[in-house]
Amino acid sequence: MAYRLNELGYSYDALEPVIDKETMELHHSKHHQTYVNNLNKAIEGLDLGSQTIEEVLKNLDQIPADRRQAVRNHGGGHANHVLFWESMKPGGATAPEGELALAMDAAFGSFAKFKTLFENAGSSRFGSGWAWLVLDKGELKVISTPNQDSPLSDGAVPLLGNDVWEHAYYLKYQNRRGDYLKAWWDVVNWDVVAERFAAAK
Ligand code: MN
Repeated sequence: MAYRLNELGYSYDALEPVIDKETMELHHSKHHQTYVNNLNKAIEGLDLGSQTIEEVLKNLDQIPADRRQAVRNHGGGHANHVLFWESMKPGGATAPEGELALAMDAAFGSFAKFKTLFENAGSSRFGSGWAWLVLDKGELKVISTPNQDSPLSDGAVPLLGNDVWEHAYYLKYQNRRGDYLKAWWDVVNWDVVAERFAAAK
C-alpha cells in the first residue's frame, strides 16, 4: 500500500500572519509531498499490511535493516507533518482547557512555564528537528527530536509538535527561529491536542 499526502483542513493563507502563504504552500505541496514520495519508494515491495504510518514508526525494527533509516526519515517526515498540519488552525484556541490544562499545570507548573520549555526545546535543537509535547509512560514531557525522528519510535505519544527545520520559517523569519516559536502559539489548535491527550491516557 502507498501512503498519500493529506489535504490541509484550511487554505495556504489561513495561518497568516503567523505563517505566510508561500511557506505553507512549499512546505505542504513540496516538502511534505517529497517525504511521502520517498517513503513510498523506501517501502516498495515490503508487506506492511494496512499499517498506518504511526504503527510503522512504533515498530521500526520490523523494517529490513537496509530500508530502516529511509523509513525512519521519510516515514517520520510524513507522520510529523500530518500531526503538524492538524495541530494548527486559524485563530486556534489560545490555551489548553479542562483535563489537559490541569495535567499540564501539574507537570510544568503553569502554561507560561510550559511555553518557555517548549520554545527552549525548539531553539536549542541544533540543526533540524522538532519540539514536542509528548505523553511518555503516562507522563507529560517536553522533548525535541533531531531530523524527522518521531517520538513514536521511542515509545512516546506526540500530542503537539512544532517543526523547527528552516523550511518551516525561513522565508518570513529568516534566522529568527525564536520569533517563529513565539508567534506559533497564536495558531495552535488546543482542541486537537486535548483529543490526542484523552486518547493517549
Ligand atoms: Mn517540515
